[in-house]
Amino acid sequence: MTTPAYEPERFTSPEYLSVIDERPNCKQFNIPASCLQAIKQQGEEGFPHEICGLLIGNISNDNWNISEVRQVSNINSERASDRFQLDPAGYQAVDKEFRGSKLEIIGVYHSHPDCPAKPSPTDLESAWDGFAYPIVSICDGKASDFRSWALNDQSNAFQNIKVKEV
Ligand SMILES: [Zn+2]
Repeated sequence: MTTPAYEPERFTSPEYLSVIDERPNCKQFNIPASCLQAIKQQGEEGFPHEICGLLIGNISNDNWNISEVRQVSNINSERASDRFQLDPAGYQAVDKEFRGSKLEIIGVYHSHPDCPAKPSPTDLESAWDGFAYPIVSICDGKASDFRSWALNDQSNAFQNIKVKEV
């Protein structure tokens, strides 16, 4: 049985297409298999709600090098199926954990329950320059697609960043 690829109509609307910058780039998202597996598992366990968390590592030469991931509570309870908001206390706790180390927070991951691993206009509104924004698509409770994104130089759209398991 194949996993259905959910793509609600809004994902092909002009509003959604405009948040993606299709121009090629040489950036890369390097993630250990264990971290990737952890994100997928969190997404499945949180289904049908969106889960979110922080990426820890460092950035060099347009490469995001992930070392650790930390799940943080999604405090958006009203629309938890299609919105996320990181718990600020959770963010602070992770920030404190790695303060003084060579690692820092370099991105935010979240899940899209029954939706593709593509960013939404809402995701664009809350995105920061320099951060990586991977999204895991969870279809029928099972992790399917995983893609990573980051703001382009104009900060007006997301670029798809090549994911490499390391
Ligand atoms: Zn999203």
